[in-house]
Amino acid sequence: MRCVVALVQHETNTFSPLPTPLSAFAGGSGRTTPPKGDEAVDQYGSADFAFAAMLDAAKARGAEVSVPIAAYAEPSGRVTDAAFDAIATAVCNEIATGCDAVLLDLHGAMVTETFDDGEGELLNRIRQVDAKVPIGVALDFHTNLTRDMAANATVIDGYRTYPHVDMYQTGERAARSLFRIMDENLSTRTCWQTLPMLTHMIRQTPARQPMKDIMDLAIAAADSGRVMNTSVFGGFPLADVPYAAFGVLIIEPEDGNQGEDLVNDLCRMAWQRRADFIFEPEDLTRSVERAAGLTDYPVVLADHGDNCGAGGSADDLTVLEEMLRQGLANIAAGPVWDPEAVGQMVKVGEGASIKLHVGGKTVVPSIGQTGHGLQLEGVVAKITDGRFAITGPMQTGLVVDLGRTAVLETPVLELVVSEERWEPYDTGCFTHAGIDPTQKNYILLKSRQHFRAGFEGLARHIILAAGPGVCGSDYSQFKFSNLTRPVYPIDPGTPTPRQVCRIEHSG
Ligand SMILES: [Zn+2]
Repeated sequence: MRCVVALVQHETNTFSPLPTPLSAFAGGSGRTTPPKGDEAVDQYGSADFAFAAMLDAAKARGAEVSVPIAAYAEPSGRVTDAAFDAIATAVCNEIATGCDAVLLDLHGAMVTETFDDGEGELLNRIRQVDAKVPIGVALDFHTNLTRDMAANATVIDGYRTYPHVDMYQTGERAARSLFRIMDENLSTRTCWQTLPMLTHMIRQTPARQPMKDIMDLAIAAADSGRVMNTSVFGGFPLADVPYAAFGVLIIEPEDGNQGEDLVNDLCRMAWQRRADFIFEPEDLTRSVERAAGLTDYPVVLADHGDNCGAGGSADDLTVLEEMLRQGLANIAAGPVWDPEAVGQMVKVGEGASIKLHVGGKTVVPSIGQTGHGLQLEGVVAKITDGRFAITGPMQTGLVVDLGRTAVLETPVLELVVSEERWEPYDTGCFTHAGIDPTQKNYILLKSRQHFRAGFEGLARHIILAAGPGVCGSDYSQFKFSNLTRPVYPIDPGTPTPRQVCRIEHSG
């Protein structure tokens, strides 16, 4: 048996000004193109990724495994056509050599210069190469589900957590179902529906309501064996594409009769709760005032407007400026993305005093924002290569590569500045640079939800700080022109949504 396993992950924020060429998928380590084969397995095959579980599942069957590409990029703007073509061609060429099964670790919210549904287009191209091969797909919880995904994939399974701490298990579920379908020669039915609602990401987590009951019901249905796979997708709202939406997808054997009812039940619950998915950001000055009034530490401030984990530049320092203005002290912050500032600090070296402008180098035309950095004066406390292995529960084991990284220390602040963007969901971004976050009064992170994986356990308080950026929860700042309308809550009178879709996959 021959199995092709590949990883292609990008969450595209169409409002982000940051380009996404092929080099963005290189995964660090000095490469300029994505790894393949043994190099890909070395990088992602032992970490908490769906890709790793798919490799393990294929090997456990004694399959010959080939890995044409592992292309993982931080969220940013539309993927260039050249990058997408290179990635899709690598996958398709490998499948064209002949295989018995395909396992793909995808995101579900990739948008390219030409294609609003990147994953759907990838799967279309694979089907042109091989119309019959069984394809198992793992998707991110922030998938914007489409017909091309549902129609072309034999199996789809999505993350059930946010922060995403079940990537490996998702890969296991997708692979298990695919191999069962192959072994039992099963025909299956995929039932799915998307709802015309853009849920706010801060309100999406399945750990809390309104999502918890919905996800719990979906998981219980899969666990009971009523259906094979259940996925609830919060959707990715920061994409001006027709498909941005909440979605549900169920896979059941052809002789099952519960999939459609289950999709209906889950969608009805979500639609009834649509108002609970709205998040009202607090005024930033007020958020920092609340932080200043606390006396048990550390207090984590999550700057969620400029979160690079959803396409932000991670270089807007508006929140930090307000913290300094209000006199907060003993702060750790970062990583702030500023290769130029890192270069300046490396040039003067550890221990040197320096006065420099940090951050604010990115202009964001889509929301009329100019960069907002800070003039700071301090000492270069540490310079590192930016590499550390994740020990927390999200992407455990992955070696992060921040590029060259420097710590600027002032009397009130230790600021981590890096050459690469990375959302801080593991304390390693501080500890590898000699900073102990547990000893800080305030920890400022550019993150919305994933920071909880590494920092919720040590935080005495968490305050959501609404800094500016392309990841904000105020949809009125975004010009949506391709989104399917009406959509809730942008159009408050959006009527009750359409019916469940079905596709039969014959074994
Ligand atoms: Zn996600």
